[in-house]
Order: sequence, then C-alpha cells, then structure tokens
Amino acid sequence: MELISDKIKVKDILEWKKGNILRVNPEYQRGAVWKEAQQKKLVDSVMRGYPLPLIYLHHKKQTIGGITREDFEIIDGQQRINALYYFGEGAIKLFDPVKDDKEARFPQFIKDMPCPWASCNYDTLPEDFRGKFDNTEIFIVKITTHNEDEARDLFIRLQAGLPLNAQEKRDAWPGGFTEFVLKYGGKRELVRYPGHDFFRKVVLNPSGDRGEIRTLCAQIAMLFLQEATKGNWMNIGTKPVDDYYYQNLSFNIYSESVKRFAKVLDIVVSLFNGYKGPKLKVHEAIHVVLLVDSLIDEYTPSWEKDFINAFDTFRHKSAIDKKAKDGEYWLKYGALTMTQAAGASTIQARHDFFSRKMLETLQPIKKDSNRIYGLLEREILYFQYRKQCVVCDEEINWEDLEIHHMDEHQHGGQTTLENGVPVHKKCHPKGQAAINFLKEWKAEKEKAFTNNSTFAPDDFTVEGTTLSANNGSIKYKIESSKKGVLAVAVVNENGKLVILKGSTIASQVSDNFDANALAPSKRRKSLIEDGSIDENYTFTRDVIFNSKSNAASLVLGHSANGNFFWVPVREDIIK
Ligand SMILES: [Zn+2]
Repeated sequence: MELISDKIKVKDILEWKKGNILRVNPEYQRGAVWKEAQQKKLVDSVMRGYPLPLIYLHHKKQTIGGITREDFEIIDGQQRINALYYFGEGAIKLFDPVKDDKEARFPQFIKDMPCPWASCNYDTLPEDFRGKFDNTEIFIVKITTHNEDEARDLFIRLQAGLPLNAQEKRDAWPGGFTEFVLKYGGKRELVRYPGHDFFRKVVLNPSGDRGEIRTLCAQIAMLFLQEATKGNWMNIGTKPVDDYYYQNLSFNIYSESVKRFAKVLDIVVSLFNGYKGPKLKVHEAIHVVLLVDSLIDEYTPSWEKDFINAFDTFRHKSAIDKKAKDGEYWLKYGALTMTQAAGASTIQARHDFFSRKMLETLQPIKKDSNRIYGLLEREILYFQYRKQCVVCDEEINWEDLEIHHMDEHQHGGQTTLENGVPVHKKCHPKGQAAINFLKEWKAEKEKAFTNNSTFAPDDFTVEGTTLSANNGSIKYKIESSKKGVLAVAVVNENGKLVILKGSTIASQVSDNFDANALAPSKRRKSLIEDGSIDENYTFTRDVIFNSKSNAASLVLGHSANGNFFWVPVREDIIK
C-alpha cells in the first residue's frame, strides 16, 4: 500500500465530486447519513478555520476497453465531503448560534462571538466567507493498492473508533458470505442489492435501517444452513455472526443449499402475498422460515392454504397471553423474545412451541417417507402389467422401468402397489402431465364402474368380460379400459359379494376378508399356491388390492385369451 499526503481546496474537491472523479464504494460504505445539524456544524467549523480530519482516498486506475480511467474512491470522509457538497450547492442554511440554540447547542463563548455567516446559505454568504469556504484546504491521503481487500481493511480500521455498527462493519468484510447477505438481505442504496422480497416486503423494516435486516438475513441463513431444526441450534448474537462471516470467506453463493434457501423464501413470500396484518418481527421471521423449510420437505402442500390462518391464530393467542403476562403463549414464547433472544436454547424452545402450535392448526399430511418402490414391488408391477408402459403401451426393458406414483408422492401419494404403475423412463409423467394422466386414468375407471352393490356369492356369473347379477336386474360390464383396470369383487364378513370400484378400493375391503370364503365354483382358477405368478394367471393390466389387514389379496382381470378372472392370491406374493 502506497500513501501520498496532499491537500486540496474545498472548491476543487467539490468539482471532483461533480465530475464523478470522486466516488463511494457502496459495498462497504454505510448507508446511514449525517443529520443536517451535523452537516451545518461541519461547515461552521470551516468558517471558524478549524482543521478537518484527514480524508482517505483510494486512487484507482482502471483500463476498460483500452481507455484508462483514473478516479478516487472515498475510504473515509464521505459524510464530510457530502456536507460540504450540499452546502456548496445551496441546499443547507447555516446555524445562527443564538437563534438556533435549541438545535445547535453551541457553548456560550461561541454564542458570544460575532457570526457573520449566521443563517446564510452559500449564495447569501458574505463574499470573503464564500472565498474562505472555497479556498479552505483539506488534508487528504491518496492510497494506491491493487488489493481491494486492503482498502476494505483500512476502511474497517479507520472506522473502528467511530460509531459504525456491527453489521456495517461486516458489510465491509471480504468474502462470499458478505456477498450472500448483501444479495438476499439487500442494501437499498445499491441497485445491485435490492434484496429478496421476503426481507423487503414481508419482514418489518426498521426506519433508518442501518443493517438490521442484513443481520436478520445472516442469522436466518446461519440457522437454515446449519440445519438448526435437525438439532444443530446455535447462538446468533453479534459475536457468533461475526465468527460465521469469518469462517465463510469462501462461501459459495450458488450452492444447492443457497438455492434451497431462496426457494423457501419464495414460498414464504407467496404465503404472505396480500397479507394485511403487521409485518413479521425478527423472531417471527426466523420461525416462519424454519417451519416452512420443514413443512415442504415432510408434508404435502395441503398446509399452505391454512398457513396464514394458523399464523394469525398464533399471533392472537400470543397477544392475549402477553397482556396477561401469563399463559403458555407468554411463558413458552413471548417471554423468550425478551431476554437471551439470540441464544441457541432460547431459539430452540421458541421454535418447538411455535411449530407445535402451528402444526396443531395446520394438520399437515405427511408424505410417505418411503418413496422408492422396492425391487420386489417393481417386479410385481412389471409382470402384472405384462411389461407394458401404461403411458405408451409399448414394452419396457427392465433397465428402463420406472414406477410412477399415480397419486403423486409430493401430494401424499403412497408407495404402494395400488398406487404404482410401470412406465418408461422417457414416458414418466411429471408435473401437469402427471395430473392430467391421473385425471384420465380415474375417468376411465369411473366409466367402467357405475355402482356399488352387494350380492350373495351365487348371484352373479362371469361371462367374457361381463359380470352379471343372476337375477338380471343389475349388470356390471367389466371393461378393460385403455388404462386397464377393472373391478374387484370380494366376499365380506356377511358372506355377501361386494363389488368395489375406483381408487378407494383398499379402504373399502373388509378387514375380515377371507379369500377362502369365495365359493370355489365361482373361481375360474384356483389359488396361486406357490407365490409365483404363473403364466396362466398373468392378466393384462390387472390390479392387486390388499385388504387392510393384509390377510388376503385379489387379482382381477383378463387373461391373455380374453377371459375374465378373479383370483385370490397369497399375501406373501405381494408382501
Ligand atoms: Zn412408455
């Protein structure tokens, strides 16, 4: 780092500023600005001939597209230069030490002295004082360094004795986590860093924000990235946040976990879209983000529509208990926002309470944690559907086989044989295609079954593809639709034959269902005894339905020669 001491007249430094030779590095300059009283006092000092503190400038030489540009970035002195600039532009009227005593608060001896510049702006200054202002010399230090971080470091050290707050200092740190927090938390003065809508619109922004929102962003990100809710709760006070910045100098802002963080924030923003209630306080912001993060992983999206109601209920009850300074919402949450609010165990206790209450209201539906079909299930479905893809009807090579959840897993669809169908990898319907596919599938099923009815075993005969009631009053055409599926006939505990239909079959099958209760004369084929699927019983796109107790199951469908069969199978085939 090279230093050159110099002095410059006020009028010249203001020319530099106007000509954009003097710039601020907004990435680490603080956003907070002097109040007008401070600006007036600085110009007053110039009028009195008081010396001004050194101004530090970073001399920058950049060659862009063959053209070399030279300018200065202010490392220290921005607020002083601004004060001089505003006065030079006529935007500020100076204090009258006597008349403005209430605001100016000058000591008595100053008030006793004459003040020819009292209440003047630049244009109304007495001429000799205008000259004094213009020609006052300011001492500057020009710094040359090619290392941007060295300039930042100097900035931090120069500011060390001044009231920069913790976050304003962090903003000056080099490294990836700084960039991440600026990007998501936002820095309003900078077009580059508008911040995520969650921090802009959903969270309560303090007036004259001096980095509080970025601190909150850093705190939430720390808890999120360290997976606090999986047991890694941590302190998020000033020191731990500083440490986290330091430990994450090479933080990757494009990592998968950062993408996930952005996705969770997007979801929270959409949940609160149009919300009329108060903006989120710091503790609410923390718990809402962490809760939503857990919900999207473990539960189907059914909770989303109820989220705001649940949250409002939580707020309402918290307010009631807070007023009484009693009750669980106060003792287990409200009081914990008052002291040690950034301590790991406090945050954990609050989050436990908050999530528990929210879940009580939301009643979210757990996704089936077992989302992959096992080898045996894949084999059963593969052969049950005669190796055919339910989407394109072509044969599937075993290597290309995927099992599609008809009711999609992310919407709570179970990993069961009833819910699985074989598809080609290339045919596997996703997103809207999966929704359409399910609709089509259900419509075709509905076409085939128009009624539920109860029969005695001898009441029906099966002929070709038609299952008829023998009394002739009711006929059920059992169709092999494009998507395949038929009906299931079971004998219930009263010895009645129940024709079941549709996707809710599994729940309609009696727990007491006994395959052997089926009248032998009505069986087209005997029980499959050995647990294998015999070629003779390989039906086209048949269904296997478990009874709830898994006591028995039933296959129903068409054989290769077009006959209709219903065959109880031993449970160990499908278990
Ligand atoms: Zn296919």
